[in-house]
Parts: sequence; structure tokens; C-alpha cells
Amino acid sequence: MNINDIKETLGTCDFGIDMMQLISKLFPICRSITGRGFRETLNVLKEQVPLLVHEVPTGTRVFDWTVPKEWNINDAYVKNSVGDRVIDFQKSNLHVVSYSLPVQKTVSLNELKAHLFTLPEYPEWIPYRTSYYKEDWGFCLSHNQFLALKDENYEVCIDASLQEGNLSYGEYYLPGEAEEEVLISCHACHPSLCNDNLSGIALSVFLAKCLRSLSLRYSYRFLFIPGTIGSITWLALNENAVSHIQHGLVVACVGDPGKMTYKKSRQGNAEIDRAVMHVLNKSGEPYEAIDFFPYGYDERQYCSPGFNLAVGCLMRTPHGRYPEYHTSADDLNLVREEYLENSLINYLNTLGVLEGNWKYITTNPKCEPQLGKRGLYEAIGGQKERAANQMALLWVLNLSDGQLTLLDIAERSDLPFETIQFAANILERHALIQKC
Ligand code: ZN
Repeated sequence: MNINDIKETLGTCDFGIDMMQLISKLFPICRSITGRGFRETLNVLKEQVPLLVHEVPTGTRVFDWTVPKEWNINDAYVKNSVGDRVIDFQKSNLHVVSYSLPVQKTVSLNELKAHLFTLPEYPEWIPYRTSYYKEDWGFCLSHNQFLALKDENYEVCIDASLQEGNLSYGEYYLPGEAEEEVLISCHACHPSLCNDNLSGIALSVFLAKCLRSLSLRYSYRFLFIPGTIGSITWLALNENAVSHIQHGLVVACVGDPGKMTYKKSRQGNAEIDRAVMHVLNKSGEPYEAIDFFPYGYDERQYCSPGFNLAVGCLMRTPHGRYPEYHTSADDLNLVREEYLENSLINYLNTLGVLEGNWKYITTNPKCEPQLGKRGLYEAIGGQKERAANQMALLWVLNLSDGQLTLLDIAERSDLPFETIQFAANILERHALIQKC
């Protein structure tokens, strides 16, 4: 079985629905970069794939960073003078600034306002804010809620703890024939937000589930980590293993209606970059490619100059480019099963290119071999695909010089990788080319 087989079965599966169900299950959990919510999330993922959970103690030095204290929260509210919860963590975990210090006090409206965050341009939405590396506290609320606050005293309670503990992350290693690896990394630290980042978690899980049943050329490493500090921690603790990583993708924002967007690796023209670009180019759907820039998700760390890994970020609408980004409107209505499934297919097609991107050498380099007498014209399918398949045979025969890969040939011939791979398989069966 190879990776192309799974794409045929995709049509008969309901991966879109399954991914959406997983997202719905994870949605209510209050995640942050450390703490119970992150662990609970990993436990839900463990029901799907047998990932290992690692715990890294607070204070561990990871390059220029230090693993932070662990944050946990039980409850939080702001009560008005008659005891009504005018801001209530139980209604949305976005109401509390992530990593808020514990607080229990009565404050005036003015004092409270210094700790409130709203989005006046979207008065119904609650923003998502964090304060990981500066000890502070705060609440997020809709601007309409904010405008309704009266000039009175408020009881503020954040029943949280910020203590020595651990940073948790999940890792799933799927061995293939080679020890060279493909890294699939997603951040899993956001609370009730769907496109960023539950869609990335769900896609990574179902990608792992698809790959598990296949015999694979590459080994695959899936990371479910807190953003930034998670990739820095993993790289610091696994520096010796990093050289195995040949290709990688950061998965984020893969469930919204926008077109596919690929942010290239820092190298810019690595095999992963070319594989994704080829797949998107042949998908027949609109897409956008953007060059690497040192902001965004964990590709920033994988592509830091000391590693410079071939890791890009394949998403739909990038962070910050959709209004719902980092707000309560990035909810279960923004993400749809058909977009998740379409993203998954683009991922599988890309991995299909990597898996099948071999070099061949012709066994018959002096002039074309006679295809007719070998029955090859009959072997290349119905009338419709015949012309493309025939050209693919000729391209593969001509360019299989032991130097060029099938992706090189697909790019040069402007034929889909699958067509080139199909031709290579036929020619290999007839001993006209050999794998290098
Ligand atoms: Zn985010």
C-alpha cells in the first residue's frame, strides 16, 4: 500500500465530520501553554492516536528561554454591587486573560477598566488575550458588555494558580522505512478557539490516523505543543535528533472558508516547498504562496538560523487576516467539515509527493526504447488520459538520468505528479528505468 491508496478511500470516509466532532469535544476546554487544560486535551487526542505525553519542569533552560510556571484556573468572575456575575469565566473561558495571576478584591470601575480588554470594532465579540511572560491579570469582554458597566464597585475574583509545575506536550512517532523524518507540528495551547488552533490539532490527528495504516518511506513525527515555548523546548531537548528532519509542516488555520495559503520555509525552495507548490498548483483551486517571514507560528523556531529546517506552514487564511482571528467569533460556526477535509487532502497529496519522489535512471539511454512492442501504449489507460500518460512516459524516460527526481520531471513537464509517478511505475515494471 502507498500513500496514494489512502486518497482513494478518503472519498468513502467522513473525516470532515470526524474532525469536526473532535473539534467540538475539545472546544470547551480552557487550554493555555501549560496546565490541566493542555493535559486534558492530550488525553482526548490519546483516544485517537497513541501519543506520548512529555512533562518538562518549570525552570528548565531551553536556549534563551525558561520553561514557565504552570498555570491552572478553576473559576473567575467580576460581580457587580448586587452580586450578579457581569463577567463570568463559566460562560466563556476567553473572559480571562490567559496566565492571569490569582486575584480576590473589590475595585472601583476605573481600577477595573485598567484590566479590561474589548474590541470596539466588533462590539459583540470577546477578544483572546494572554500575559504569559508578564505577571498581570485581566478580563476580556464584548464591547457591549463593557459599555453596560455602571460606575460602582466590583468584586473581582480569579481563582487561579501560577506555580512550579510542568510544561506538557504530546509526541507521536510513526516509524517508516527510513529514519529520515517528516515533522508535523501544531500548537495546542489556545482555549475555545476553533480555526486557530483546534483545526490544526484535528487535521494533525487525522493525518496521523491516515498514515498509520500505510507502509511509509519516511518516518513521521507529530508534535502537539504549546506555541513558541513548545517548539523551543522540543528543539532544545532534542537537538541531536533534529538532523533526521528532512521536511516539515506547521499545521494551523485549516478549517475556514478561505483559500489554501502556503508560507514557504526559510530555505524557500526546499523539497517540501516545491511539493506543496506543485500540489496547490495542480489542485485547480485558488491558492496563495507567501515567502518566509520571521513571525507567525512555530516555523519561526524550526527555521531559526541555527536549525534552518525545511519547515513551511500550510494553512487556509493566515493568522490575523480574518476578522474572527483571536476572538470569540473563531467558533464552531467558522470552521466547516468540507474545508477541513479539503485541507487534509492537500496535506495528503503533499506527503504523497514526498513519499513518491524518487530518482530513477533509464536502462536504455541511447534513443527511445520501443514502447509499442512492450505493450506500453495499451498499459496507459483510457482515451482520455492516454495523451498525458504517453507524454509522461516519454518525459520520465528522457529525464530519468539518475539526477532528477519525479518532482523535477513533474515540474519540467507541467504534468501532475501522480501522472508522472504512474508512468514511472509502469516503466519500472518493464525494467526500462531503475530506482537510484
Ligand atoms: Zn493564535
